[in-house]
Amino acid sequence: MTDTDRRTFVTGAALAAGVAAAAPAIAQGAKPATTPQAAAYPKPPFPVQRQPWPGLASKMNPRPDHGETSYKGSGRLAGKKALITGGDSGIGRAAAIAYAREGADVAINYLPAEEPDAREVIALIKAEGRNAVAIPGDLRDEAFCRKLVEQAAAKLGGLDILVNNAARQQTRPTIADISSEDFDATMKTNVYAPFWLTKAAVARMGPGSVIVNTSSEQAGDPSKDIIDYAMTRAAVLNFTKGMAKQLAEKGIRVNAVAPGPFWTPLQVSGGATPEKQKSFGESSPLGRPGQPAEIAGLYVAAADPALSFSTGQIFGATGGGGQPA
Ligand code: NAD
Ligand code: MG
Repeated sequence: MTDTDRRTFVTGAALAAGVAAAAPAIAQGAKPATTPQAAAYPKPPFPVQRQPWPGLASKMNPRPDHGETSYKGSGRLAGKKALITGGDSGIGRAAAIAYAREGADVAINYLPAEEPDAREVIALIKAEGRNAVAIPGDLRDEAFCRKLVEQAAAKLGGLDILVNNAARQQTRPTIADISSEDFDATMKTNVYAPFWLTKAAVARMGPGSVIVNTSSEQAGDPSKDIIDYAMTRAAVLNFTKGMAKQLAEKGIRVNAVAPGPFWTPLQVSGGATPEKQKSFGESSPLGRPGQPAEIAGLYVAAADPALSFSTGQIFGATGGGGQPA
């Protein structure tokens, strides 16, 4: 694949009938790989780009593949009602598309600035004939977190699955560069919000419900320039294991997904330095970042009622890197 091919990868995204259709082009002459998509997925070097936080997937180059044209469901979450935070873009969007195609009704939360990305996801959920609910708002606010769960349950007609996926990541070279405001914003978004949302969700969940958290390989092997963020991914991993024990008697399962490097807006809106962006994913054994479409199946597995003995589990997609736990 040439650099130009890489840059234009999935940029031919066409909006057909309000649905984002981002067909991954198969590179001519690419070596055969396990799946056609994987063969075409871009490798570093990536064009350095910068968006203001929280960034938009629709403005990324190359545009991430969230499974818009590739994910096929088989009724694994039929009739379930799910709330996904950060469902507008990246990993959360891939989970939202997969959940809808597996038969779930889906509510997504995101920041108001992300409305253009959210609209694409809402259209994709509706295209599956599922109920789609958009609830924008800032998760750093406890009252909003409570309202979010209440509204999602009211509009969906119940709540079976909560996916705690939203997060803040801002790179800072040293601890001296992390202000208390910064630290507070990261902790509020990444630790307090999952705590508040879980508390509100558990109060209305019945047996068979599932909470799916998003951790990271950073939980066990932190990078030196995202110290505050990496701490939160470790906290979420621990929270997952403790809550799985606490909620077992209620018949509520709690699992986590641990991604390695994934090509998402978080990385181009302050989450990674320009140097890291350029070589993003290079140090993983697969030599490239994952595309959100490549992890959606783990969010399905983590919530699938067929995996009823799996609770307190960490499902990983790291491209060959170490698992956090
Ligand atoms: P993303 O930018 O697409 O998603 C993060 C989302 O968080 C945003 O879309 C935004 O809606 C939400 N968010 C942030 N602050 C918020 C706030 N105050 N209120 C409401 N919503 C807020 O990026 P992503 O990489 O898909 O991130 C999803 C999850 O994946 C995060 O938990 C992140 O820690 C985890 N993760 C990502 C990577 C990676 O390399 N991209 C690696 C490991 C783990
Ligand atoms: Mg987003």
